[in-house]
Amino acid sequence: MRILVLQFIPSVRGRRVPRFEPQLATLVSLLERREHSVSLAGFARFELPRIKSALAQGLPQLVYADISAVCADTARRTLEYIERHEFLPIVAGGAFPTVDPDAALSLPGVQAAAVGEPDASLVTYLERIKDPAVGQVVSGVWLRDERGTTRPELPVLVEDLNSLPFAHRDLFDYAEHVRRTAQIEIAIGRGCPQRCAYCLNDRLAKLYTGRGTWVRRRAPGNILAEITHLRQRYPGVRLVRFLDHMFGLDDEWLTHFLTTYTRQCDLPFRCHLRANATPAETIRQLAAAGCQITDVEVISGSNFIREEIFQMDLSNEQIQDLFAWLKEADIRSRAIVYLGAPYESEASLDETRRLLLHIRPDAVDIRPYHPWPGTPARELCREQGWLHARGEERFHLGRGGLDLPVCRPNIVAAFIRRLRAELPVVLDEPWWRRWSIASRTALGQVLQRRRL
Ligand code: SF4
Repeated sequence: MRILVLQFIPSVRGRRVPRFEPQLATLVSLLERREHSVSLAGFARFELPRIKSALAQGLPQLVYADISAVCADTARRTLEYIERHEFLPIVAGGAFPTVDPDAALSLPGVQAAAVGEPDASLVTYLERIKDPAVGQVVSGVWLRDERGTTRPELPVLVEDLNSLPFAHRDLFDYAEHVRRTAQIEIAIGRGCPQRCAYCLNDRLAKLYTGRGTWVRRRAPGNILAEITHLRQRYPGVRLVRFLDHMFGLDDEWLTHFLTTYTRQCDLPFRCHLRANATPAETIRQLAAAGCQITDVEVISGSNFIREEIFQMDLSNEQIQDLFAWLKEADIRSRAIVYLGAPYESEASLDETRRLLLHIRPDAVDIRPYHPWPGTPARELCREQGWLHARGEERFHLGRGGLDLPVCRPNIVAAFIRRLRAELPVVLDEPWWRRWSIASRTALGQVLQRRRL
């Protein structure tokens, strides 16, 4: 079957869409393994010419819409066009249908919504759809027809992630990504043992209660095999970026992984760390294995917001210790901060500034807080009447999603501008990137002079 995958995903720091996302990319690999012909287009906003072009090039028999939790409006407008002009079956999946399957089924033209991880359910559903004589009820795939809505239970989780094919990358224009960044992105697993209230993980973990192990990690050998494969396929890789927040949250797995990594891979890497679960010894291990950059979610300088509201179980002392150890180990750090969070005040904004000035990360990523659909923090904000009336639209404009009476959006926006001016917002390019950009520029100038 010819399947057109539409990825609805927000634009992040100017990165292009479609954008590599491990679960969607693994689904594409599984579909190709079943000999479906897959084309892909990404949308951060409604773009009619690109929709027409994707339909004309892919000539699909079915559309699969992978919808981020903050892209429902873009998806609605796009699917409305397809429903009116193409009469194609449309299946929705991704975070939005997982959080609100009924709302996904009410999008124009959508006849089925895959809830949760689509590997086990969607591939089977798409096989069955080919033969209308076969019953189409598949675990995890909600259906809507004239008789009403069918809501089957979720399938059990795929526990052996090593059994899945490597994530597909070519359709995401990955050669260009590697050319621009010299990095490859790797997912080491799925799920997370922590329960931050601003994150969807809590909701997903509850959804899968009784359906298998939630936190799953790939075997080190399987990850290293993917890295080797990617280095051969996309020359010029200089850094491996591990995407998962739970990268360092299992000592035994991490030690095994770092030993394997050091033996089999000579590339430096970048990873996420949680300051409430990273002892000094782990930092030393990471440095010895080639860790050069870490991303740490500091989130707020207010203990109250971090611990009571966002349930991060993370103290100021743990944050200060972690950043001090990273400096000692010569590992660069990027601190991620949300401003305009529930219960934010001018005092808590100042606390965040003081903490950042104290820990001095190499870069800060300061984001206006957006209450992500499906999270406990959003529910709190809804109950308190703090959700901004133009929430999703504001997210795409880079503005906060709350309107707090004691800390209005204009105060938060001014504070964000101030902090971004005070602190470094980008990590310096490492020497090999500076060198390669400089040498490419010099070479280009020489060639141009010769042509003249
Ligand atoms: S550590 Fe990251 S992935 Fe895990 S619950 Fe917190 S925000 Fe979510």
